Amino acid sequence: LSINVIESSQVTEELSNNVILTTLNDLYNWARLSSLWPLLYGTSCCFIEFASLIGSRFDFDRFGLVPRSSPRQADLIITAGTVTMKMAPSLVRLYEQMPDPKYVIAMGACTITGGMFSTDSYSTVRGVDKLIPVDVYLPGCPPKPEAIIDAVIKLRKKVAQEEILSRGIKEQTHRFYTTSHE
Ligand code: SF4
Repeated sequence: LSINVIESSQVTEELSNNVILTTLNDLYNWARLSSLWPLLYGTSCCFIEFASLIGSRFDFDRFGLVPRSSPRQADLIITAGTVTMKMAPSLVRLYEQMPDPKYVIAMGACTITGGMFSTDSYSTVRGVDKLIPVDVYLPGCPPKPEAIIDAVIKLRKKVAQEEILSRGIKEQTHRFYTTSHE
């Protein structure tokens, strides 16, 4: 490689032909949004729609989503179904066991507001965001598999905009949620 004094316009042209320019931040986000691993979590009928995504018809894996049975291996939780008061501590525990950075999609009317149980039930959590911070709300009863894919795409766009240094902010928010619930 010879070192010559060359015009800056020539440098730009040469670089554009030979080098992929990006930032560490973009590379980091691209890797994360391309490999979001959801926890297998479902409590009622919404999970049937979520489970259908795993089959070949919708081919969830093409987005890099590989469902995991352990929260230690997951960075996304899709709260599919009604969250009862009895289930709430377990949901918070699962969320806490997931490594940062981690994300939540609230799936279905029951999860988002309590749904049909929102007015007259002593046993249902009326909004999962009272327990854990939600990144994307996905309304419906139940949302179709295509709508779940749309929510995942929205989440991927959000991840693409994040700064590496913002990881700690989510952690602080999460602590606030769990503390205020206790
Ligand atoms: Fe079932 Fe509808 Fe509630 Fe989903 S939102 S858990 S489909 S009742």
